[in-house]
Amino acid sequence: MITLSGVEKSFGLNKVLNDIALTLEEGSVTALIGPSGSGKSTLLRCINLLEIPQAGQLKIGNEEIRFSPKMRIGKRDIRRISQQTGMVFQNFQLFPHLTVLENITEGLVVVHKWPLDRAIKRAEALLAKVGMQHKRDAWPATLSGGQQQRVAIARALAPSPKVLLCDEPTSALDPELSLEVVAVLKQLAQEGTTMLMATHDLRLAANIANNVVFLEAGEIVESGTSEAIFTQARKARTKTYISTLT
Ligand code: ADP
Ligand code: MG
Repeated sequence: MITLSGVEKSFGLNKVLNDIALTLEEGSVTALIGPSGSGKSTLLRCINLLEIPQAGQLKIGNEEIRFSPKMRIGKRDIRRISQQTGMVFQNFQLFPHLTVLENITEGLVVVHKWPLDRAIKRAEALLAKVGMQHKRDAWPATLSGGQQQRVAIARALAPSPKVLLCDEPTSALDPELSLEVVAVLKQLAQEGTTMLMATHDLRLAANIANNVVFLEAGEIVESGTSEAIFTQARKARTKTYISTLT
C-alpha cells in the first residue's frame, strides 16, 4: 500500500501541489485526471522522488519518508524510495544506444546489482508478457511508438516495483497504437499490478481504473471509484471537467 499525506510542492513561489493526501491500495489502479498544469506529472514525480516535496510524508510498503523545507534528503533515502517505483513516460524515454533487451537489463544489473544471466531471463519473460520478444535485439528507433511504450512498460516492471507510475502513457500515440498499449496496461491491471496513471483519456481511465482522483490547480478536488466519479461526481468542478472531455 502507498500513502501520501500533506504533500506540498512549490517551484519558487508557484505552489504546484497543496496538501495532497492519497492512498493506493495494493492491486488497485488509480487514474489521475485533471486539466493541463494541474500538477499530475509533478505528483507522480513526487512519488518516485524525481521531485522532492517541501512538506508531507510518503509511505511505500515498509519504506517511509518525511519532507520538510529545512531538511535535505540524502541520495540513499531517495534511492530507497525510488527503487520501490517504476515509471512510464509519455515519450517512452528508452535508451537509444541500447537494444530492447539491454534497455531492460541495464537497470537490473547497474542499479539492482543482478547477475547478467538472471537479468536477461527476467527481461525475456517481461518482453514475452508485453508481446515484444521478437524485437529483443532491435534498436528502439526501429520500433513504432506503441512498441517502444510496451518495452518501456517492461523496463519499468523489471525490478518488481510496488507501484507502476504512468504519465500519459498513450497520449503520444495514434489511436490504433494506443490500443496495444492499453491492452498491456489492462492485462497488468487484471494481474493485480498497483498503478497510478495520469491521463487525459477518460475512456482509458474508465476502462482500466478502479479509482479516479481529480486534480485541479494542485489540489485533489474529488476522488472515488471510477463509477462514482464518472456517473455521479459530487463537485461541480469535477462534473464540468468530465463533461468537457466526453
Ligand atoms: P500536468 O502534468 O497536470 O499538466 P505539471 O505537474 O506538469 O502538470 O505542472 C504543474 C505546474 O507546475 C505547472 O504550472 C508547471 O508549469 C509547473 N512546473 C512543473 N515542473 C516544473 C519545474 N521543473 N519548474 C518549474 N515549474 C514547474
Ligand atoms: Mg503532465
